[in-house]
Amino acid sequence: MRTSQAKAAAAAVMAIAAWLIGPGAGAADEAFRRWVEELWPEAQAQGVKRVTFERAFAGVEPDRSLPDLVLPGKKPSEVKGQAEFIRPPPDYLNRDYLARLAQQGRGFMAQYADALAKIEKEIGVERHVVLGIWGRETAYGRHKLPHHAITALATQAYLGRRKEMFRAELLAALRMLEEGVIAQANMRGSWAGALGLPQFMPTDYYAYAYDLDGDGKKDIWNSVPDALASAAKQLRDKGWISGLSWGYEVALPAALDCANEGPDAERPLSAWVRLGVRRVEGRAFPTEALDAVAYLMMPGGAYGPAFLVTENFKAIRRYNMSDLYALFVGNLSDRIAGGGDFVTPWRDVKQLSTGDIEEIQQRLQRLGYAIDKVDGKIGSVTRRQVGLFQRASRLPVDCWPGLATLARARAAEARP
Ligand code: CA
Repeated sequence: MRTSQAKAAAAAVMAIAAWLIGPGAGAADEAFRRWVEELWPEAQAQGVKRVTFERAFAGVEPDRSLPDLVLPGKKPSEVKGQAEFIRPPPDYLNRDYLARLAQQGRGFMAQYADALAKIEKEIGVERHVVLGIWGRETAYGRHKLPHHAITALATQAYLGRRKEMFRAELLAALRMLEEGVIAQANMRGSWAGALGLPQFMPTDYYAYAYDLDGDGKKDIWNSVPDALASAAKQLRDKGWISGLSWGYEVALPAALDCANEGPDAERPLSAWVRLGVRRVEGRAFPTEALDAVAYLMMPGGAYGPAFLVTENFKAIRRYNMSDLYALFVGNLSDRIAGGGDFVTPWRDVKQLSTGDIEEIQQRLQRLGYAIDKVDGKIGSVTRRQVGLFQRASRLPVDCWPGLATLARARAAEARP
């Protein structure tokens, strides 16, 4: 163990040295090769044969252009991030794109009616929701998967911000090659190594892949019924409750501001109704949903629509940990089922850089606010804590980490 740690440390030093020498020096590749050799005993322990291992890494080099890497000489904020966290809500939730996807989704709902009915019966996730996931993940299979999955996973495991997680994914991908789940040439993925029509990580494949068409193979690349069932199985195993909506757009009474956002303040829908929260346009909450627990979610702070979201919103978030992602899937599935755009418009909302958001999070944390993670991402916790800080500082409460909040947090810390 000690030797392998020392070796890993030496490899890391070599990688940094090679990077400092500059690209084209060739030494970086050698350090990567040593790192790959360090991986071999773990792969072997998972049943991967040497020939498969060597074939998998033949010609593979780390791809330093991928997002989310930790590169020597570069600040985290200079490295590409995920769209879910760097695009402001109205951009990410582009209404024209959502309308187009919804129209296509209704076409697929007719085309795959039999498979979707079988999914509802066997797995218990509604057809429009399954299509919402597929539409978000790959635009119903239209997105090209630009990366060789082993290259993407190896790069993330070698240079990424989440090395341990990707090391486990890389090992699972090697196991997939060993077991002949897919041929290496066809193992294409996203920058994060997400595979196939439902964008599964390799460990997701082993946990959730589902053979709906009954040909004995779980084929998330070429069989739409298998891919949709696999996505449904993942959602169900992550907590999907059949027959419950992901959430509802609401209007808040004057007494409730955006600092009431977040799962910490969840309560039954009936309790929100008693507090004066109403659905927009006079719509009623379904009677059977009134006991369901929900929390307030305002992805643009005070600059856009407000939602009460249920356990099913949390289930979608477990598929991809982002409020905007879950809201996109939720709204797309509603639209496929006949619904439309949000009623409350988005106002112009500026998003600070990841570095500035991190600074606000750090300062609020030091000031005693319950920020759980300093990650430069604007989630429910950050919005709520910014709102509470604004309230206490007598700033306008918009629950959005902007320049005024940053300046006030700096001033608050400068005081003895
Ligand atoms: Ca199949």
